[in-house]
Amino acid sequence: VIPPSLFFGAGCVLLVRGGTLVDGFSVIKADMLIENGKIRKIGKGIKEKAERTIDASGKIVIPGLVNAHTHLPMTMLRNYAEGKPLERWLKEDVWPAEAKMTENDMCLGGYMGVAECLLSGTTCAADMFFFGSHAVGAAADSLNMRLVQFMDIMDSGKESDFGKCGAFISKVRKHKMSKPGIACHSVSRCGKELLVEGKGLARKENLAFQMHVAETRTELFECIKAHGKRPVEYAESLGLLDRQTLLAHASWVTKREIGIIAKSGAAVAHCPISNLKLATGGIMPLEQYREAGACIALGTDGASSNNSLDMIETMKMAGLLQKHRYWDAAAGNPKDLLTYATYGGAKALGLDAGRIAEGCLADLVILDPMENMVPLGDVYTAIAYSCSRKNVETVIVGGKVSVENGKLLNFDAKTRERFLERADAIRSGSS
Ligand SMILES: [Zn+2]
Repeated sequence: VIPPSLFFGAGCVLLVRGGTLVDGFSVIKADMLIENGKIRKIGKGIKEKAERTIDASGKIVIPGLVNAHTHLPMTMLRNYAEGKPLERWLKEDVWPAEAKMTENDMCLGGYMGVAECLLSGTTCAADMFFFGSHAVGAAADSLNMRLVQFMDIMDSGKESDFGKCGAFISKVRKHKMSKPGIACHSVSRCGKELLVEGKGLARKENLAFQMHVAETRTELFECIKAHGKRPVEYAESLGLLDRQTLLAHASWVTKREIGIIAKSGAAVAHCPISNLKLATGGIMPLEQYREAGACIALGTDGASSNNSLDMIETMKMAGLLQKHRYWDAAAGNPKDLLTYATYGGAKALGLDAGRIAEGCLADLVILDPMENMVPLGDVYTAIAYSCSRKNVETVIVGGKVSVENGKLLNFDAKTRERFLERADAIRSGSS
Protein backbone atom coordinates (compact mmCIF):
# COMPACT_ATOMS: atom_id res chain seq x y z
CA VAL A 1 0.00 0.00 0.00
CA ILE A 2 1.34 3.35 -1.04
CA PRO A 3 1.02 6.11 1.56
CA PRO A 4 -1.55 8.85 1.03
CA SER A 5 -0.48 12.16 -0.43
CA LEU A 6 0.56 15.18 1.60
CA PHE A 7 0.90 17.91 -0.96
CA PHE A 8 1.48 21.47 -0.28
CA GLY A 9 -1.15 23.63 -1.75
CA ALA A 10 -3.70 20.94 -2.49
CA GLY A 11 -6.68 22.91 -3.73
CA CYS A 12 -5.27 26.23 -2.55
CA VAL A 13 -4.44 29.39 -4.44
CA LEU A 14 -0.75 29.62 -5.33
CA LEU A 15 1.14 32.68 -6.45
CA VAL A 16 4.42 32.25 -8.31
CA ARG A 17 6.13 35.60 -8.07
CA GLY A 18 8.83 37.19 -10.18
CA GLY A 19 9.94 34.34 -12.43
CA THR A 20 10.96 34.38 -16.07
CA LEU A 21 8.12 32.46 -17.72
CA VAL A 22 9.34 30.55 -20.75
CA ASP A 23 7.31 28.29 -23.02
CA GLY A 24 7.66 27.32 -26.68
CA PHE A 25 5.90 30.54 -27.71
CA SER A 26 7.21 33.40 -25.57
CA VAL A 27 9.44 34.63 -22.75
CA ILE A 28 8.05 37.10 -20.20
CA LYS A 29 8.92 38.21 -16.69
CA ALA A 30 5.68 38.10 -14.73
CA ASP A 31 3.76 36.72 -11.77
CA MET A 32 1.37 33.84 -12.12
CA LEU A 33 -1.72 33.02 -10.11
CA ILE A 34 -2.79 29.39 -9.90
CA GLU A 35 -6.25 28.31 -8.80
CA ASN A 36 -8.24 25.08 -9.10
CA GLY A 37 -5.36 23.34 -10.83
CA LYS A 38 -5.13 25.90 -13.64
CA ILE A 39 -3.21 29.05 -14.45
CA ARG A 40 -5.75 31.76 -13.71
CA LYS A 41 -3.80 34.92 -14.31
CA ILE A 42 -0.43 36.04 -15.65
CA GLY A 43 0.77 39.60 -15.17
CA LYS A 44 3.07 42.02 -13.47
CA GLY A 45 2.50 42.78 -9.78
CA ILE A 46 -0.52 40.51 -9.24
CA LYS A 47 -2.35 41.75 -6.13
CA GLU A 48 -4.78 38.87 -5.51
CA LYS A 49 -4.43 37.06 -2.22
CA ALA A 50 -2.87 33.63 -2.31
CA GLU A 51 -2.61 31.00 0.39
CA ARG A 52 0.95 30.36 -0.63
CA THR A 53 3.53 32.40 -2.52
CA ILE A 54 6.55 30.89 -4.22
CA ASP A 55 9.38 33.31 -4.86
CA ALA A 56 10.67 32.59 -8.37
CA SER A 57 12.80 35.69 -8.83
CA GLY A 58 16.01 34.82 -10.61
CA LYS A 59 14.43 31.51 -11.61
CA ILE A 60 13.03 30.16 -14.88
CA VAL A 61 9.51 28.77 -15.02
CA ILE A 62 8.73 26.34 -17.85
CA PRO A 63 5.72 24.15 -18.61
CA GLY A 64 6.11 20.65 -17.15
CA LEU A 65 7.90 18.26 -19.47
CA VAL A 66 5.77 15.59 -21.10
CA ASN A 67 7.38 12.20 -21.59
CA ALA A 68 5.42 10.98 -24.61
CA HIS A 69 6.73 7.43 -24.64
CA THR A 70 7.84 5.29 -21.74
CA HIS A 71 7.22 2.01 -19.95
CA LEU A 72 7.43 2.97 -16.27
CA PRO A 73 7.39 -0.52 -14.69
CA MET A 74 10.57 -1.27 -16.67
CA THR A 75 12.54 0.50 -13.93
CA MET A 76 12.57 -3.05 -12.54
CA LEU A 77 14.81 -3.99 -15.48
CA ARG A 78 17.26 -1.10 -15.35
CA ASN A 79 20.91 -2.05 -15.83
CA TYR A 80 19.81 -5.45 -17.08
CA ALA A 81 20.56 -7.37 -20.32
CA GLU A 82 23.06 -4.82 -21.57
CA GLY A 83 24.45 -4.90 -25.08
CA LYS A 84 21.72 -6.54 -27.17
CA PRO A 85 19.79 -5.24 -30.19
CA LEU A 86 16.02 -4.70 -29.82
CA GLU A 87 14.62 -8.00 -31.13
CA ARG A 88 16.98 -10.26 -29.16
CA TRP A 89 16.77 -8.03 -26.08
CA LEU A 90 12.96 -8.27 -26.05
CA LYS A 91 12.68 -12.01 -26.76
CA GLU A 92 15.57 -13.31 -24.68
CA ASP A 93 15.46 -11.03 -21.64
CA VAL A 94 12.75 -8.41 -21.37
CA TRP A 95 9.56 -10.32 -22.16
CA PRO A 96 10.44 -13.38 -20.02
CA ALA A 97 11.20 -11.06 -17.07
CA GLU A 98 8.09 -8.94 -17.63
CA ALA A 99 5.95 -12.09 -17.71
CA LYS A 100 6.87 -12.64 -14.04
CA MET A 101 5.73 -9.19 -12.97
CA THR A 102 2.58 -9.05 -10.89
CA GLU A 103 0.24 -6.07 -10.66
CA ASN A 104 1.99 -5.08 -7.44
CA ASP A 105 5.42 -5.27 -9.13
CA MET A 106 4.18 -2.96 -11.89
CA CYS A 107 2.99 -0.54 -9.22
CA LEU A 108 6.36 -0.64 -7.43
CA GLY A 109 8.27 -0.18 -10.70
CA GLY A 110 5.87 2.59 -11.66
CA TYR A 111 6.36 4.31 -8.31
CA MET A 112 10.11 4.54 -8.83
CA GLY A 113 9.54 5.66 -12.42
CA VAL A 114 7.12 8.41 -11.41
CA ALA A 115 9.54 9.58 -8.71
CA GLU A 116 12.35 9.86 -11.25
CA CYS A 117 10.11 11.63 -13.77
CA LEU A 118 9.03 14.29 -11.26
CA LEU A 119 12.56 14.89 -9.99
CA SER A 120 13.71 15.56 -13.54
CA GLY A 121 10.87 17.98 -14.34
CA THR A 122 8.32 15.69 -15.99
CA THR A 123 4.71 16.37 -15.06
CA CYS A 124 3.00 13.90 -17.40
CA ALA A 125 4.10 10.60 -18.88
CA ALA A 126 2.54 8.36 -21.51
CA ASP A 127 3.03 4.98 -19.90
CA MET A 128 2.60 1.87 -22.06
CA PHE A 129 2.49 -1.50 -20.31
CA PHE A 130 0.52 -4.71 -19.99
CA PHE A 131 -2.67 -5.51 -18.16
CA GLY A 132 -2.08 -4.90 -14.45
CA SER A 133 -0.20 -1.68 -15.08
CA HIS A 134 -3.34 0.31 -14.27
CA ALA A 135 -1.86 -0.05 -10.75
CA VAL A 136 0.81 2.51 -11.72
CA GLY A 137 -2.01 5.05 -11.42
CA ALA A 138 -1.89 4.65 -7.62
CA ALA A 139 1.80 5.61 -7.65
CA ALA A 140 1.10 8.68 -9.78
CA ASP A 141 -1.76 9.73 -7.49
CA SER A 142 0.43 9.34 -4.45
CA LEU A 143 3.38 11.33 -5.82
CA ASN A 144 1.14 13.75 -7.78
CA MET A 145 2.02 13.32 -11.45
CA ARG A 146 -0.22 13.03 -14.49
CA LEU A 147 -0.32 9.84 -16.56
CA VAL A 148 -1.88 8.64 -19.76
CA GLN A 149 -1.87 4.88 -19.21
CA PHE A 150 -1.84 2.87 -22.41
CA MET A 151 -2.80 -0.77 -22.24
CA ASP A 152 -0.24 -2.61 -24.37
CA ILE A 153 -1.77 -5.39 -26.47
CA MET A 154 -0.10 -7.78 -28.91
CA ASP A 155 -0.55 -11.18 -30.55
CA SER A 156 1.98 -13.48 -28.94
CA GLY A 157 1.00 -17.00 -29.94
CA LYS A 158 -1.68 -17.15 -27.27
CA GLU A 159 -4.82 -15.08 -27.21
CA SER A 160 -4.21 -11.33 -27.04
CA ASP A 161 -5.24 -9.25 -24.05
CA PHE A 162 -7.72 -7.27 -26.14
CA GLY A 163 -10.61 -8.64 -24.08
CA LYS A 164 -9.12 -7.08 -20.94
CA CYS A 165 -9.04 -3.53 -22.35
CA GLY A 166 -12.48 -2.66 -20.98
CA ALA A 167 -11.45 -3.65 -17.45
CA PHE A 168 -8.17 -1.75 -17.82
CA ILE A 169 -9.97 1.41 -18.94
CA SER A 170 -12.36 1.39 -16.00
CA LYS A 171 -9.56 0.64 -13.49
CA VAL A 172 -7.44 3.54 -14.85
CA ARG A 173 -10.42 5.88 -14.62
CA LYS A 174 -10.52 5.30 -10.85
CA HIS A 175 -7.17 7.10 -10.48
CA LYS A 176 -7.50 10.83 -10.28
CA MET A 177 -4.28 11.75 -12.11
CA SER A 178 -4.63 9.18 -14.92
CA LYS A 179 -6.53 8.78 -18.13
CA PRO A 180 -6.56 5.62 -20.23
CA GLY A 181 -5.30 4.92 -23.74
CA ILE A 182 -4.97 1.88 -26.01
CA ALA A 183 -1.65 0.71 -27.47
CA CYS A 184 -1.12 -1.92 -30.13
CA HIS A 185 2.49 -2.89 -29.51
CA SER A 186 3.73 -2.68 -33.12
CA VAL A 187 2.85 -3.72 -36.67
CA SER A 188 5.11 -6.74 -36.32
CA ARG A 189 3.69 -7.96 -33.00
CA CYS A 190 0.01 -7.33 -33.85
CA GLY A 191 -1.98 -8.96 -36.61
CA LYS A 192 -4.18 -6.88 -38.90
CA GLU A 193 -7.35 -7.72 -36.93
CA LEU A 194 -5.86 -6.68 -33.60
CA LEU A 195 -4.54 -3.39 -35.03
CA VAL A 196 -7.95 -2.52 -36.43
CA GLU A 197 -9.79 -3.65 -33.27
CA GLY A 198 -7.38 -1.71 -31.03
CA LYS A 199 -7.78 1.54 -32.94
CA GLY A 200 -11.53 0.91 -33.24
CA LEU A 201 -11.88 0.62 -29.46
CA ALA A 202 -9.80 3.79 -28.93
CA ARG A 203 -12.09 5.64 -31.38
CA LYS A 204 -15.23 4.33 -29.76
CA GLU A 205 -14.05 5.39 -26.28
CA ASN A 206 -12.50 8.64 -27.56
CA LEU A 207 -9.04 7.63 -26.24
CA ALA A 208 -5.51 8.19 -27.44
CA PHE A 209 -4.03 5.29 -29.44
CA GLN A 210 -0.36 4.46 -29.49
CA MET A 211 1.99 2.07 -31.28
CA HIS A 212 5.70 1.55 -31.82
CA VAL A 213 6.36 2.03 -35.50
CA ALA A 214 9.40 1.98 -37.82
CA GLU A 215 11.75 1.60 -34.86
CA THR A 216 14.26 -0.76 -36.50
CA ARG A 217 15.28 -1.82 -39.97
CA THR A 218 14.35 -5.42 -39.11
CA GLU A 219 10.77 -4.28 -38.47
CA LEU A 220 10.79 -2.34 -41.74
CA PHE A 221 11.97 -5.32 -43.82
CA GLU A 222 9.57 -7.74 -42.10
CA CYS A 223 6.66 -5.37 -42.78
CA ILE A 224 7.53 -4.99 -46.46
CA LYS A 225 7.87 -8.77 -46.78
CA ALA A 226 4.59 -9.54 -45.01
CA HIS A 227 2.38 -6.73 -46.31
CA GLY A 228 4.16 -5.25 -49.34
CA LYS A 229 4.16 -1.88 -47.60
CA ARG A 230 6.41 0.12 -45.30
CA PRO A 231 5.16 0.33 -41.65
CA VAL A 232 3.64 3.84 -41.85
CA GLU A 233 2.02 3.09 -45.23
CA TYR A 234 0.65 -0.13 -43.77
CA ALA A 235 -0.71 1.70 -40.69
CA GLU A 236 -2.34 4.27 -42.98
CA SER A 237 -3.90 1.57 -45.16
CA LEU A 238 -5.57 0.12 -42.05
CA GLY A 239 -6.96 3.53 -41.05
CA LEU A 240 -4.87 3.76 -37.88
CA LEU A 241 -3.59 7.31 -38.33
CA ASP A 242 -5.44 10.37 -37.07
CA ARG A 243 -5.13 13.17 -34.52
CA GLN A 244 -5.53 10.77 -31.62
CA THR A 245 -2.71 8.47 -32.74
CA LEU A 246 0.78 8.65 -31.27
CA LEU A 247 3.63 6.88 -33.08
CA ALA A 248 6.64 5.99 -30.96
CA HIS A 249 10.00 6.18 -32.76
CA ALA A 250 8.88 6.53 -36.42
CA SER A 251 12.56 6.71 -37.34
CA TRP A 252 12.96 4.47 -40.39
CA VAL A 253 10.67 6.49 -42.63
CA THR A 254 10.72 7.99 -46.11
CA LYS A 255 9.80 11.57 -46.95
CA ARG A 256 6.51 10.24 -48.28
CA GLU A 257 5.72 8.56 -44.94
CA ILE A 258 6.55 11.79 -43.08
CA GLY A 259 4.04 13.51 -45.34
CA ILE A 260 1.41 10.85 -44.56
CA ILE A 261 1.93 11.29 -40.80
CA ALA A 262 1.83 15.10 -40.96
CA LYS A 263 -1.33 15.10 -43.08
CA SER A 264 -3.10 12.63 -40.80
CA GLY A 265 -2.45 14.77 -37.72
CA ALA A 266 -0.85 11.83 -35.88
CA ALA A 267 1.99 12.71 -33.51
CA VAL A 268 5.44 11.17 -33.32
CA ALA A 269 7.35 10.50 -30.09
CA HIS A 270 11.07 10.66 -30.77
CA CYS A 271 13.15 8.63 -28.29
CA PRO A 272 16.74 9.47 -29.23
CA ILE A 273 18.56 7.84 -26.32
CA SER A 274 16.73 4.53 -26.56
CA ASN A 275 17.36 4.44 -30.33
CA LEU A 276 21.07 5.03 -29.79
CA LYS A 277 21.35 2.53 -26.98
CA LEU A 278 19.54 -0.27 -28.84
CA ALA A 279 21.67 0.52 -31.90
CA THR A 280 18.70 0.98 -34.23
CA GLY A 281 21.01 2.71 -36.72
CA GLY A 282 20.17 5.83 -38.68
CA ILE A 283 18.81 8.93 -36.94
CA MET A 284 15.20 10.05 -36.89
CA PRO A 285 14.72 12.81 -39.49
CA LEU A 286 13.23 15.23 -36.97
CA GLU A 287 13.96 18.32 -39.06
CA GLN A 288 11.96 16.87 -41.95
CA TYR A 289 9.05 16.17 -39.62
CA ARG A 290 9.22 19.79 -38.48
CA GLU A 291 9.26 21.09 -42.06
CA ALA A 292 6.27 18.89 -42.86
CA GLY A 293 4.36 20.42 -39.93
CA ALA A 294 3.97 17.18 -37.96
CA CYS A 295 3.15 17.15 -34.25
CA ILE A 296 6.45 16.23 -32.59
CA ALA A 297 6.88 14.99 -29.03
CA LEU A 298 9.84 13.51 -27.16
CA GLY A 299 10.11 10.43 -24.98
CA THR A 300 12.67 8.48 -23.02
CA ASP A 301 11.29 4.97 -23.68
CA GLY A 302 11.68 2.55 -20.77
CA ALA A 303 14.41 2.72 -18.13
CA SER A 304 15.74 -0.55 -19.45
CA SER A 305 16.76 0.95 -22.81
CA ASN A 306 17.74 4.50 -21.88
CA ASN A 307 18.62 4.05 -18.91
CA SER A 308 17.12 7.15 -17.34
CA LEU A 309 13.69 8.77 -17.59
CA ASP A 310 15.23 12.22 -17.83
CA MET A 311 13.50 14.47 -20.37
CA ILE A 312 16.04 17.27 -19.95
CA GLU A 313 18.77 14.93 -21.12
CA THR A 314 16.44 13.78 -23.92
CA MET A 315 15.95 17.34 -25.24
CA LYS A 316 19.69 17.82 -25.50
CA MET A 317 20.35 14.48 -27.13
CA ALA A 318 17.56 15.02 -29.67
CA GLY A 319 19.08 18.37 -30.63
CA LEU A 320 22.66 17.14 -30.84
CA LEU A 321 21.66 14.24 -33.07
CA GLN A 322 19.91 16.54 -35.55
CA LYS A 323 22.95 18.81 -35.79
CA HIS A 324 25.10 15.77 -36.43
CA ARG A 325 22.72 14.14 -38.89
CA TYR A 326 22.28 17.19 -41.12
CA TRP A 327 25.82 18.57 -40.74
CA ASP A 328 24.04 21.74 -39.67
CA ALA A 329 24.78 23.53 -36.40
CA ALA A 330 21.47 25.42 -36.75
CA ALA A 331 19.44 22.17 -36.59
CA GLY A 332 18.08 21.13 -33.19
CA ASN A 333 16.79 24.63 -32.48
CA PRO A 334 16.49 24.96 -28.68
CA LYS A 335 13.10 26.70 -28.79
CA ASP A 336 11.78 23.85 -30.94
CA LEU A 337 13.20 21.30 -28.51
CA LEU A 338 11.38 22.88 -25.58
CA THR A 339 8.19 22.99 -27.66
CA TYR A 340 8.46 19.28 -28.51
CA ALA A 341 9.15 18.35 -24.86
CA THR A 342 6.18 20.33 -23.53
CA TYR A 343 3.48 21.50 -25.96
CA GLY A 344 4.09 18.73 -28.51
CA GLY A 345 3.68 16.00 -25.89
CA ALA A 346 0.63 17.64 -24.33
CA LYS A 347 -1.03 18.03 -27.74
CA ALA A 348 -0.23 14.43 -28.66
CA LEU A 349 -1.94 13.25 -25.47
CA GLY A 350 -4.91 15.60 -25.68
CA LEU A 351 -3.96 17.70 -22.63
CA ASP A 352 -4.48 21.44 -22.34
CA ALA A 353 -0.95 21.88 -21.02
CA GLY A 354 2.57 22.47 -22.30
CA ARG A 355 2.09 26.25 -22.38
CA ILE A 356 2.21 29.02 -19.82
CA ALA A 357 -1.10 30.65 -20.61
CA GLU A 358 -4.23 31.60 -18.68
CA GLY A 359 -6.67 28.71 -18.56
CA CYS A 360 -4.05 25.99 -19.12
CA LEU A 361 -3.35 23.25 -16.60
CA ALA A 362 -0.91 24.44 -13.94
CA ASP A 363 1.74 21.81 -14.71
CA LEU A 364 4.95 23.76 -14.20
CA VAL A 365 8.62 23.46 -13.36
CA ILE A 366 10.77 26.09 -11.67
CA LEU A 367 14.42 25.84 -12.66
CA ASP A 368 17.20 27.32 -10.57
CA PRO A 369 19.96 28.31 -13.03
CA MET A 370 22.66 27.58 -10.37
CA GLU A 371 26.19 27.66 -11.76
CA ASN A 372 25.67 25.55 -14.88
CA MET A 373 23.00 27.62 -16.71
CA VAL A 374 24.48 31.11 -16.31
CA PRO A 375 24.91 33.62 -17.80
CA LEU A 376 21.55 32.86 -19.38
CA GLY A 377 22.04 34.60 -22.72
CA ASP A 378 19.48 32.90 -24.95
CA VAL A 379 17.20 31.31 -22.36
CA TYR A 380 16.08 28.56 -24.78
CA THR A 381 19.69 27.48 -25.27
CA ALA A 382 20.14 27.50 -21.50
CA ILE A 383 17.12 25.20 -21.09
CA ALA A 384 17.74 22.79 -23.96
CA TYR A 385 21.51 22.53 -23.85
CA SER A 386 22.87 23.70 -20.45
CA CYS A 387 20.20 22.51 -18.03
CA SER A 388 20.25 19.25 -16.11
CA ARG A 389 17.90 17.62 -13.60
CA LYS A 390 19.81 19.17 -10.72
CA ASN A 391 18.34 22.56 -11.79
CA VAL A 392 14.81 21.29 -11.11
CA GLU A 393 13.83 23.08 -7.93
CA THR A 394 10.01 23.00 -7.81
CA VAL A 395 7.51 20.89 -9.71
CA ILE A 396 3.82 21.75 -9.70
CA VAL A 397 1.21 19.40 -11.16
CA GLY A 398 -2.41 20.44 -11.38
CA GLY A 399 -1.68 23.39 -9.10
CA LYS A 400 -0.16 21.22 -6.36
CA VAL A 401 3.49 21.15 -5.41
CA SER A 402 5.02 17.68 -5.90
CA VAL A 403 8.72 18.60 -5.70
CA GLU A 404 10.13 21.35 -3.51
CA ASN A 405 13.81 22.29 -3.16
CA GLY A 406 14.62 19.40 -5.48
CA LYS A 407 12.94 16.83 -3.19
CA LEU A 408 9.72 14.87 -3.53
CA LEU A 409 7.24 15.93 -0.87
CA ASN A 410 5.72 12.50 -0.56
CA PHE A 411 8.38 9.89 -1.27
CA ASP A 412 8.20 6.69 0.72
CA ALA A 413 11.56 5.00 1.35
CA LYS A 414 9.86 1.74 2.34
CA THR A 415 8.30 1.46 -1.12
CA ARG A 416 11.80 1.79 -2.57
CA GLU A 417 12.97 -1.11 -0.37
CA ARG A 418 10.11 -3.29 -1.58
CA PHE A 419 10.89 -2.32 -5.17
CA LEU A 420 14.52 -3.44 -4.75
CA GLU A 421 13.48 -6.79 -3.24
CA ARG A 422 11.04 -7.55 -6.04
CA ALA A 423 13.43 -6.38 -8.77
CA ASP A 424 16.01 -8.78 -7.38
CA ALA A 425 13.59 -11.68 -7.44
CA ILE A 426 12.41 -10.98 -10.99
CA ARG A 427 15.93 -10.61 -12.37
CA SER A 428 17.38 -13.63 -10.58
CA GLY A 429 14.53 -15.83 -11.79
CA SER A 430 13.48 -16.75 -8.24
CA SER A 431 10.11 -14.99 -8.33
ZN1 LIG B 1 8.81 1.62 -26.26
